[in-house]
Amino acid sequence: MNVPLLLSQFLDRAVSLYGDKKAIFSEDRALTYSELNERVNRLSDGLRNLGVCKDERIAYLAPNSIEMLEGFYGVFQVGGIMVPLNIRLKPEDYLFILNHSESKVLFVDQDLYHLIQPIKDQLESVQHIIVHYMDDSLDEISYDEWLSKHSSETFKREELDENDVCSLLYTSGTTGNPKGVMLTHRNNYLHALSTMHHLRVSDEDVLLHVLPMFHVNGWGSPFYYTANGASQVCLRKTTPETIFNALEKHKVSVMHMAPTVLNALLQFYEKIVPSIEQQVRVIIAGSAPPPAFVTRVEKELGWEFIQVYGMTESSPLSTISTVRSHLKQLPLNEQYRMKAKAGISMIGSQVKVVNDHGDEVAHDGKEIGEVITRSNGVMKGYWKNEEATMETIRNGWLHTGDMATVDKYGNIDIVDRKKDVIISGGENISSIEVEGVLYDHPAVLEAAVIAVPHEKWGETPHAYIVLRENEQVSEQELIAFSREKLAHFKAITGVTFVKELPKTASGKIQKVHLRNEYWEANGKTGRLVN
Ligand code: ATP
Ligand code: MG
Repeated sequence: MNVPLLLSQFLDRAVSLYGDKKAIFSEDRALTYSELNERVNRLSDGLRNLGVCKDERIAYLAPNSIEMLEGFYGVFQVGGIMVPLNIRLKPEDYLFILNHSESKVLFVDQDLYHLIQPIKDQLESVQHIIVHYMDDSLDEISYDEWLSKHSSETFKREELDENDVCSLLYTSGTTGNPKGVMLTHRNNYLHALSTMHHLRVSDEDVLLHVLPMFHVNGWGSPFYYTANGASQVCLRKTTPETIFNALEKHKVSVMHMAPTVLNALLQFYEKIVPSIEQQVRVIIAGSAPPPAFVTRVEKELGWEFIQVYGMTESSPLSTISTVRSHLKQLPLNEQYRMKAKAGISMIGSQVKVVNDHGDEVAHDGKEIGEVITRSNGVMKGYWKNEEATMETIRNGWLHTGDMATVDKYGNIDIVDRKKDVIISGGENISSIEVEGVLYDHPAVLEAAVIAVPHEKWGETPHAYIVLRENEQVSEQELIAFSREKLAHFKAITGVTFVKELPKTASGKIQKVHLRNEYWEANGKTGRLVN
């Protein structure tokens, strides 16, 4: 008989084997697995009493917190679909997502309530707003009071199928409007099994949530750390200071983060006493950093560096950078280069890089194709957007829109998003490759390279640069630097110095905004489509 793969089973296992162990820490509280389970059951009971039925959407607008984790398991037990909202959006964006997802209940943190207040009257489906950490200034339902009125004993779980949708995650919106991705219990469950194997998660691990839990990269991790009886740490705000404090206080062993955040951590680390007591074993990053960066993490901080690649639509991970045992005789620099790539397919995922005819590209590190993947983690589809679903999943393969090469060892290297590639004089230039070179300049803290219009070449690479504190470099110097290190047609032709770059909540640089701004300011329209 097939046992359905349901996410609640992960919490059940932790409660029975690790009931008295601390499941989660916040700044001022901690819950054991038994205590967490008790509150999760109360939450489910409360949702049932509000009339929440199977497949109804429950939205969360909250920072990483105990309440957010409770939502993960509490919503699933009633068969609900969790819609975690990015906390950095604008009220109009919430209006769009809440109405588009037809969410019935909205849980919101008091600190974020001001983002909902202006649109409250226009919410078409939300019937109840429940506020975490509510004080007397608001006239809404207080989460803690509401929870205390419900029972953990009487609640009975909804019968579910593993193919039932459990989460509706909106994509980052790096390239345009976010899309609602439907993931099932089976998607998340099998993705969790594969990831916990590859990251060697154990009951000794302490995960510090650096990525937001509402984002798909942070979203999956509670499942595999819970299943193993590991502990999790949530911070309402993640800054280099709060992160380093938490590393010491909780003996953190694992963190998942965007390279931009890791970059900020490295910067901060240089300033503080490097002898800070910490036991981090591995950090997992998710978008192509240059090898020099990997070297610093491994050599200076002593943390193992793992790169992963994926997208919301694939639960999210498809590949992982590992130096397989038979390649460990390669020179160390070669190994670091390998770790900076997206790597090889994870167990359960088939991943190919194909050309326009659908044939796999040569394993020569040169031929570029699109990454396509097939796995049990691939989404059921986009919510209310069958056309986009059919465009993205063709013949069972998810078409990622990411361009890559494959080296002789079979490692996939993401070259660029199709939309970010710069087409200059008929040649394709990877914006990531050019950024990698600029990051090697000692004055550069952050770099984003975009296509800008050019009379002769059609497009050329232009860099947006954030300088390191107290460092200076001129536009001409940076152009010369890139010409020294790159084929001339790939070198940047201009620089805009900025104080900061536009980023998504998970730390991704939104090049689409830079592009639109530049092209519009120069009276050109060619690239505005994206
Ligand atoms: P939207 O689809 O709304 O434009 P998004 O694609 O950024 O936003 P996500 O699903 O969060 O939304 O991100 C997936 C994308 O992130 C991938 O398609 C890829 O372009 C990029 N990415 C993820 N991991 C890596 C990696 N290791 N190296 C390079 N790029 C990566
Ligand atoms: Mg995308």
